[in-house]
Amino acid sequence: MNPYDIAGEATDVLVVGAGPAGLSLAINCRRFGLSVRVIDRHPEPDRTSRALAVWSGSLEALSAVGVAEDIRAEGLTIGRVTVGDGARVLLDEETGVDHAGPFPQPVILPQWRTEQILADRLAALGVRVERGVALVAIDQERDRVFATLHHGEDTPERAVAGFVVGCDGGASAVRHLLEIEAEDFSDPETHVFCDGRIEGPLQPGTLYLWSGEGGSIALSPIDGETWRMTARRQAAPPPAPSGSHPGPDADGAATGEPPPEPPPTREEMQHYLTLSGPPGLSIASVSWLAAYRAGEFVAERYRDGRCYLVGDAAHVLSPTGGQGLNMGIMDAANLAWKLAQIARGRGDVQALADSYEAERRPIAKAVIESSLVRLLAGFAGGIVARTTRDVAVKALSRLAPLRRRMLADLADSAASYREGALAGLRRMVTAGTPTVGERALDAPYHDPETGKAGSLWPLLCGLDARETGKSDGPVHTLLLFGDATATRAIALSVEEFGPAVRIVQLDAVTDPDGEAARRYTVDPGGWVLVRPDQVVGTRGGPLDVGLIDSYAELALRLPEAR
Ligand SMILES: Cc1cc2nc3c(=O)[nH]c(=O)nc-3n(C[C@H](O)[C@H](O)[C@H](O)COP(=O)(O)OP(=O)(O)OC[C@H]3O[C@@H](n4cnc5c(N)ncnc54)[C@H](O)[C@@H]3O)c2cc1C
Repeated sequence: MNPYDIAGEATDVLVVGAGPAGLSLAINCRRFGLSVRVIDRHPEPDRTSRALAVWSGSLEALSAVGVAEDIRAEGLTIGRVTVGDGARVLLDEETGVDHAGPFPQPVILPQWRTEQILADRLAALGVRVERGVALVAIDQERDRVFATLHHGEDTPERAVAGFVVGCDGGASAVRHLLEIEAEDFSDPETHVFCDGRIEGPLQPGTLYLWSGEGGSIALSPIDGETWRMTARRQAAPPPAPSGSHPGPDADGAATGEPPPEPPPTREEMQHYLTLSGPPGLSIASVSWLAAYRAGEFVAERYRDGRCYLVGDAAHVLSPTGGQGLNMGIMDAANLAWKLAQIARGRGDVQALADSYEAERRPIAKAVIESSLVRLLAGFAGGIVARTTRDVAVKALSRLAPLRRRMLADLADSAASYREGALAGLRRMVTAGTPTVGERALDAPYHDPETGKAGSLWPLLCGLDARETGKSDGPVHTLLLFGDATATRAIALSVEEFGPAVRIVQLDAVTDPDGEAARRYTVDPGGWVLVRPDQVVGTRGGPLDVGLIDSYAELALRLPEAR
């Protein structure tokens, strides 16, 4: 019996919080055929400026839910990353070089706009965010979760769901209600933000990470005119002038967070820019100023029974690393297809339920500990960090592969799942990259009917198969390399899964130059099974039917077929 069977009257998934993590999760779940409710305690969407960068890994995940092109079309592409110190340029690197994914370069789009695009997509799938509704209690039973929801002054609602997913931010009520502790990684620090026009020699489309006597700053273009400047506050802030914009956590008192710090003044930001920015820059005008105080932490557990944590609810990262929004989107992509399999009793449901934390928690810790990103950004502060960073940057400027690795780290597209039951198959797979747990790659693909040149990526996302949101569930993609006779045994081995495994033959017609085979380092007759979150599930040669079978037991097979 499936221990995660869902009671008849329950919504499959109750998503708590309509930030980027909650919206992404809800869209993914809906597209995998689950029923979904999304609630948010705020009556209106948050319109403050917050995260800007959507990195390659997130764009890949968002392309699978059909919104990456909208984000790319509306956003600004980051073409270069430049690292400097005082008057010296230490590193000046083009983004996206040698990146085999479909979105080699990061895109800048204000968070509120990304959220709006996601909310529109969710609405197109028939789900509207229920605003002004707060979760206040959770009670788990064998086949359901009771969630107490407050709708303003009305009598509380007792909602019933198969799973509750806390996407409710750093002060997560779900995390507190489940009594999940957080593992702290850094003491709280205050970061200050300024959006506005900057005069001086800045190149459009370039991300600047700069250091000087006063610490370090990051300068990111927002659009053709305005820039976001981020710095670590160096000393006690001057008193806030009356009428200034409240910080992003202005309602922190209601959530148990520390009271907000006063936002910086334009003069405070200019001070940091002069001391620590590229030479010759001045702030010409300001549209947003904010201070944000937070430490970095990762929840001790990402799951308790039928309840999960996603996004900031599971991990809060320094906003200067530019990864918070992106991590939530990637968490959502990892979890949604597993919930859909678990709800249907497909595969080893316990292993699938455990694999979300096993795969995603180490990534959050790795991002926090990512020394390259940290050293380069220099946000640790102090002379020691600065000296160490200089050494690292010098090494980087000589070593192209290391440089690319740094940009891939930032882009989150090199993150690979090395932990957990699903990654255990890695031990059985002998050769080839990308290997089990690594991101699948894009490659040229020629339509077998028309011969028209295109890309493999949309097939890996199953985009055409799930547009209505009424699919039969997540779809795995089996890439078969070589002609159909060479891969016949493997093709037959997935017949029992019907539309849950889609076969893509990469032969002389669809891969005429052998580029896909080269990128996947596969010999003729070889194959790669790609998960619904575009991660390699397993791979092998023409006789490795057993590898498919092992994976199917974990993540695909229905109980009656065992
Ligand atoms: C000033 C600032 C700058 C930042 N800059 C960057 C950046 O450059 N790059 C980057 O990647 N990240 C950045 N971040 C971090 C980024 O904004 C967060 O990581 C991101 O918003 C997390 O998304 P989320 O969906 O997990 O949570 P949130 O966006 O916090 O959304 C949580 C939602 O849950 C709702 N909620 C909370 N409690 C309840 C409840 N009990 N019931 C119902 N609903 C509830 C809230 O109303 C909220 O809408 C920045 C953050 C700030 C504040």
